[in-house]
Amino acid sequence: MKKFIVPLAVMAVVAAACGGNRSIEKASATITAKELRDYTRILGADSMMGRKPFTPGENITVNYLAGELGRIGFSPAFGNSWFQEVPLVEITTKVQGPVVITAAGSKMEMTVPDDVAIESPSMKEFVELVDIPMVFCGFGIVAPEYGWNDFSAVDVKGKCAVVLINDPGLYTGDSALFRGKTMTYYGRWTCKYEEAARQGAAAILIIHETAGAGYDYSIPRKSSISPGLYQEPAPGDPEPCPVTGWISAGAADRLFGALGHDIEKLRREACNRDFKAFETGASISLQLTNSHIRNSSLNVAGILPGSTHPEEAIVITAHWDHFGVGETENGDSIYNGAVDNGTSMAWALEIGEAFASMKKRPERSVILFFPTSEEQGLLGSSWFVANPPIRVENLVACFNNDLLLPLGRMKDFMVTGYGQSELDDMLARAAMKQNRYLLPDPNPETGMYFRSDHFSFAHAGVPALFARGNCDSREFGREWAATREKEYLTGRYHKPADNYYPEMNFDGITEDARAVFDVAFYIVTSDIRPAWKAGSEFANIR
Ligand SMILES: [Zn+2]
Repeated sequence: MKKFIVPLAVMAVVAAACGGNRSIEKASATITAKELRDYTRILGADSMMGRKPFTPGENITVNYLAGELGRIGFSPAFGNSWFQEVPLVEITTKVQGPVVITAAGSKMEMTVPDDVAIESPSMKEFVELVDIPMVFCGFGIVAPEYGWNDFSAVDVKGKCAVVLINDPGLYTGDSALFRGKTMTYYGRWTCKYEEAARQGAAAILIIHETAGAGYDYSIPRKSSISPGLYQEPAPGDPEPCPVTGWISAGAADRLFGALGHDIEKLRREACNRDFKAFETGASISLQLTNSHIRNSSLNVAGILPGSTHPEEAIVITAHWDHFGVGETENGDSIYNGAVDNGTSMAWALEIGEAFASMKKRPERSVILFFPTSEEQGLLGSSWFVANPPIRVENLVACFNNDLLLPLGRMKDFMVTGYGQSELDDMLARAAMKQNRYLLPDPNPETGMYFRSDHFSFAHAGVPALFARGNCDSREFGREWAATREKEYLTGRYHKPADNYYPEMNFDGITEDARAVFDVAFYIVTSDIRPAWKAGSEFANIR
């Protein structure tokens, strides 16, 4: 771990802390494992119906959250409403018949969704690709600051771009090439879809690879067979790429094998600066229909107005949405999302309650924010940041959580996106008081910093922290924690088995919430504005 340079502002904070404040301790003690458990049990119950936007589960969830915000002492954040409407369009895509690829003179049928997982973010009702050329475009990245352009040698207009997941740094390990093992935003599938649209491609297929994606193929497969939610396009918005999706590693091997290529070799070549995209000689045909339902879903937020600077605020956030009722697995069809994201909502409510319990109001405001449609691409939080109840320049910090594992007390405080802002240093002090250490996310290749709602805030320049105990159990050590995490990610994550279980241990989340309360308290009772660190890709937004 790198040494910390503690900024002056943080020293001041620590000095204030040394004064020892009984009322902070009392407030912190209102954060309890029992209440975290109760919230998680309720939010993960079948009665919430998997908390999916546009379903009866949405009404039940948002009303429950608004009720709890009121009960713990918060006021509505949007004028006199707890709710903010987020205009969305739900697109149900049906691929008609097989996807046919003609390669080396013969036709290969690709099964949907097992070989290819196709989505269409288009407002067109019918999309057809007729024998369009497939072009292998390396990682599908245009990154001027790295002097990198995977499209410089080809024109993919009207064609199907086939690209690799993640960015070259992961596969070379060279920290001077992109950011080495740490995924840059260029490695994210959303960024690749955006680039394909800019290039005018008619379709983009990402070759799946578990290490580079950060999850196995079942995740995009499942996402492709459920209706997709998108922000409703405004007039003048750029057209999205009309056919987007993934090709499984096995299907890609068959296809490229038939063309006389080896994917591993192509990947190695694509990591070189002199790699040139090429027409594969294969072509793809498919037809799909889209049906659109315009609707709006609700963000939920409460505010505890500051005593002297109510126009400045911190935001504590955790998305409320999950996947509703879907494909049955082991006799269960309700995607409860107890860990994704019940435990984090519980964490946020408990931090909020600690603030609300204090007789003396903090100087700045505290906003508890439960965004909708995180699972569909951070839609609720990006809408909130574009239409905030408090000017975005005056949102001084954001604390988000997602997938908070209830595994008991941890020695570590894992920071995803470590090194981005001074919030790291503030958290380090709070963690030290709990005898814990900060741990940069050991798997930065999965791009988790771009995968939950804090990213919407970071993208708008608001310093945002995504941190939790995760890797080093106080009782059972690291290997045990890694095994438990893996069990969750392979057995429960985005599956009906993400239920509340009585054996969940909330003692660690209690400590996490108390540490974040500690950091957040000093920010709202001071005029500190945590800064981005030099070199952060978000440092120059404000
Ligand atoms: Zn989540």
